[in-house]
Amino acid sequence: MIGITSFGGYIPRLRLNRMSIFQNMGWFAPAIVTVAQGERSFCNWDEDSLTMAVAAARDCLVGKDKQATDAVFLASTTLPFADRLNAGILKTALNLKDDLIAADFASTLRAGTTALIEALTAVKADEKKQVLVAASDKRLARSASFYEMWEGDGAAALLVGDTDVIAEYLGSFTVTRDFIDHYRGADRQFDYTWEERWVRDEGYSKIIPEAVNGLLKKLSLTMDDVDKLVFPCFFKAEHRNIAKKLGASPEKLIDNMHEVCGETGTAHPLVMLIQALEEAKPGDRILAAGFGQGCDALCFKVTEAIKNLAPRQGIKGSLADKKTTDNYLKFLKFRDQIEPEMGIRAEAPTQTSMTVLYRKRDMLLGLVGGKCTKCGTPQFPRTRLCVNPDCRALDSQEPHEFADTPAKIKTFTGDMLAVSVDPPHIYGMIQFEGGGRFMADFTDCELNDVKVGQPVVMSFRRRLYDRQRGFSGYFWKAVPLPMKKEEAPAAEEIRFDGQVAIVTGAGAGLGRVYALELAKRGAKVVVNDLGGARDGTGASTSAADQVVEEIKALGGEAVANYDSVSTPEGGQNIVDTAIKTWGRVDILINNAGILRDKTLIKMDPENWDAVLNVHLKGAYNVTRPAFIKMREQGYGRIILTTSAAGLYGNFGQTNYAAAKMGLIGFMNALKQEAGKYDIKVNTIAPVAATRLTEDIFPPEMLEKVKPEFVAPIVLYLCSKGSKESGMIYNVGLGYFNRAAILTGPGLAVSDGTKVPTVEDIHKNWAGINDMTGAVEIPNVMASFEPMLNAFKPKKEKTAETGGPSVKAVFDGLEKAFQPEAAAGVDVVFQFNISGPQGGSWFVTIKDGACQVSEGSHDRPTTTIKMADQDFVKMMSGELNPMAAFSSGKLKVEGDLMKSQLIEKLFKI
Ligand code: NAD
Repeated sequence: MIGITSFGGYIPRLRLNRMSIFQNMGWFAPAIVTVAQGERSFCNWDEDSLTMAVAAARDCLVGKDKQATDAVFLASTTLPFADRLNAGILKTALNLKDDLIAADFASTLRAGTTALIEALTAVKADEKKQVLVAASDKRLARSASFYEMWEGDGAAALLVGDTDVIAEYLGSFTVTRDFIDHYRGADRQFDYTWEERWVRDEGYSKIIPEAVNGLLKKLSLTMDDVDKLVFPCFFKAEHRNIAKKLGASPEKLIDNMHEVCGETGTAHPLVMLIQALEEAKPGDRILAAGFGQGCDALCFKVTEAIKNLAPRQGIKGSLADKKTTDNYLKFLKFRDQIEPEMGIRAEAPTQTSMTVLYRKRDMLLGLVGGKCTKCGTPQFPRTRLCVNPDCRALDSQEPHEFADTPAKIKTFTGDMLAVSVDPPHIYGMIQFEGGGRFMADFTDCELNDVKVGQPVVMSFRRRLYDRQRGFSGYFWKAVPLPMKKEEAPAAEEIRFDGQVAIVTGAGAGLGRVYALELAKRGAKVVVNDLGGARDGTGASTSAADQVVEEIKALGGEAVANYDSVSTPEGGQNIVDTAIKTWGRVDILINNAGILRDKTLIKMDPENWDAVLNVHLKGAYNVTRPAFIKMREQGYGRIILTTSAAGLYGNFGQTNYAAAKMGLIGFMNALKQEAGKYDIKVNTIAPVAATRLTEDIFPPEMLEKVKPEFVAPIVLYLCSKGSKESGMIYNVGLGYFNRAAILTGPGLAVSDGTKVPTVEDIHKNWAGINDMTGAVEIPNVMASFEPMLNAFKPKKEKTAETGGPSVKAVFDGLEKAFQPEAAAGVDVVFQFNISGPQGGSWFVTIKDGACQVSEGSHDRPTTTIKMADQDFVKMMSGELNPMAAFSSGKLKVEGDLMKSQLIEKLFKI
């Protein structure tokens, strides 16, 4: 049996969010928005087709005897050398033996599948035992073209042989026809592309089926015998249509990967084939086709051996290992499509000595150092004398490969002065496991993430490009890997040495954990607890005493206080305990709590008051004297404890919910008073298994939601470094999210003098409720601003808008209507405009006529939501609708395409 014995993939780490191409170039080429979904892969500045091929081939050779390889084929339309055997560089980088055949397959996007057929043919004929086929492409496309959107960079590698076959080769069929969908002149950087309809209708949809059906006939199979169908086609709809035409159901069709990386040129049929292999099970038949001046089709049957393939990155792994950017200019610079000033230092001579390169080729291209045969010390570079001071043997070294040896960072620097396409230039000393070290350039990393001791892997990269001579020079660079938790150096510990903390209700539950954790980190703690029952009745000293004992047993300092927080005297005593014992109060955690759940009908005043007295009045009673001291000190951290019951509501807890939400109001006001004294006040809404929740949470949840999970954020908010104030956090099980009160933009229903009618309210209900563009408001004065602005005298031409008011735009819309552009148009545009000038209008266009009405339509074709000023700017031509859409200023619901008619239908 012959066939595929291994596979490897490489999609470069960098991904460009396609929307960023549109955001930068949509003003110029609005139509590219139609293909702006997802992200495309792109090479780092030091990557090209060759480096990607090396990466994919290394991945493919994992767990294989690479020296058994007797042929290396490299397929690409973007090889760095037109006349120098690129496959020869690949072979040297992989450190393969010299007595093998290496060949470049080029000049067509199906070069990858052709190379694969040739490899399979050679093995089938018993001419070769193991052939490595790599395909890779980094194509350049003109800025703002569809091709820039469609394409991505990537590489794939397959090993072909007759042992441990994972996918048996069943046969192939090729059609060769000089069909020109695009071409690249020998002296050109960019492809010249022919009309898309022609490419689609005469090319893809005729030639691919011809090859696929030819193969099925040759193998006496039908599409029913095929489990996975692979062929690249960047026209998404056509991709599906061709599969349908071939009789393949949608689940057989392997995705064309537009959203995740884009079409990787010559590599793409193999990239998609690997994607199919990654999810294939033994027995699956895979039919793969590669299109380009004809079409190759190959068929494979997956074997049991696929289960034994050693783990590897593959296409799946490289898709997961990504860094997405919106920086379109960086993308262009990395592809050399813009030329920013690089400075005089960049002009330093870069000529490579071919003599040195040849003599040291295994060291420079293969990262081969030496290992002393006398003492076993590895070293890079290989020298005549062993580096081991106790050995110093002469001419004792045999070649030693470093490329796959694990290594760690010993030292590093980020150099802003050195010339770099992606400053700062990061480099440093790396130490190989088992010995050997050298100064390496680092790549695929950000300075902030690099750490001493971090593991690195070696990667074959372009080190220089000599423009004068058109020469790409390569060497190996270090790629820092994400640190495992246990390897990461500890972050600076947050401590509370010398600080005094008060924790109310610290005799049990959450409060106890806060007190213990604060004490462990050096704080002196007042452990306050009344020691009552869950409903607040009774009292005892034992709860607080016990926690004080626990803290002391850990070597910490603590003092007990048994006062109730529910009286002003109790609050004062609690604070006095801190001041009398240690002279200050740095931290106050208002945590004491009770429950008396009843429905409102049964909620008598006693139960209402008891709960409000502990939670809401309790916070006031303790915070006030503490705040006085904190203000005097010019420092303080205050925590309040709310609850999801208050923030979002809970049945049978009107007393508790009111108290808990009352605390938010308390915080909102206090943060204004506290600001200038470096006193921060924040609120948490915990979820934890305690006495309060023991009969509320189900038992399996009680086991998991330990109070310990809540303490870290509480301590963080109490730390000196925390700058937050006025925030609310939900906390539980190690999950955190911030809650906030948001206010919608609203709209003016009247002119500020006339009282609106109830009907006016009805008419504008959607606009009043619209939360599009809702914001947090910092204080009460700021909350009046939208209202006051709404009734400022409106000028026809306002300074802010540079155009007419929103109402004026709608008043003039019927006049601005262009009936000649409305032939056959039958739409209703609903406009929901927010902000002081906002409101709801709908525009009906039918039978060449336009009618503008105030209010909301029942079934609009397209709904447009915008802020008033943006709307006026857009309608007066100052804001491009596409730019508004892509930046989120314009929101469209319903039929998006119809919204594009607006520009044609009205001349404002
Ligand atoms: P808990 O009953 O274990 O602890 C509360 C402590 O407060 C008890 O030790 C109690 O004796 C003490 N206390 C009660 N009234 C007091 C008073 N007047 N003066 C001094 N101490 C008093 O409950 P817990 O779950 O640890 O609750 C801590 C805080 O967290 C409470 O404010 C509670 O409302 C809040 N909370 C808890 C949860 C949760 O899931 N556990 C959820 C939301 C809010």
